[in-house]
Amino acid sequence: MPELLPVLSKEEIQEKVARLGQQISADYKDEQLVLIGVLKGAFVFMADLVRSIHLPVEIDFITASSYGHCDHSSGDVQVQDDLRIDIRDKHVLIIEDILDTGLTIQRLIACLSCHQPRSIRVCACIDKTERRQTDLRPDYWCHRAQQGFLVGYGLDYAEQYRQLPAIYHLQFSASEGKK
Ligand code: 5GP
Ligand code: MG
Ligand code: MG
Repeated sequence: MPELLPVLSKEEIQEKVARLGQQISADYKDEQLVLIGVLKGAFVFMADLVRSIHLPVEIDFITASSYGHCDHSSGDVQVQDDLRIDIRDKHVLIIEDILDTGLTIQRLIACLSCHQPRSIRVCACIDKTERRQTDLRPDYWCHRAQQGFLVGYGLDYAEQYRQLPAIYHLQFSASEGKK
């Protein structure tokens, strides 16, 4: 079994999400804001964040995937544009679990731009910088990490660990290797 090394505790996440909610509430005061969560990874973060934003907001989800059952992006990002809300002329905040290469967000921004929103910004629970392949940086983030494969708080490895209330670094032993 791979080992779980703590990165962010439940309490640390709560504190950071509350602060992010205050900042977003201040930045979008009196604006029409739509939060678009990226499934599946962002579902836990989105649920907490929306309750710390003290503004009327609309919520929708979009599905993106590039991993399958392994730990690195194939670079071939699949987006299912199944939005049910009209985002034209509204401010969009994309809610992601983690920004790694940036390819998923780049693809999502291109896709959402077609609906002519007033603005698009990105809020990621984790900003993981080492493998970035684009100029993109999240406008809002809870935690910045350089590297490592993180799980918990919505983040999975082969569909496992999403339910953990804290965030961990998944450490494989040399004999286990990775898929
Ligand atoms: P990107 O396109 O920025 O490389 O990666 C986007 C997606 O890959 C993230 O939304 C996330 O679902 C997945 N991902 C990237 N890094 C990690 C990680 O450290 N742990 C997990 N569980 N998923 C990751
Ligand atoms: Mg994601
Ligand atoms: Mg995943």
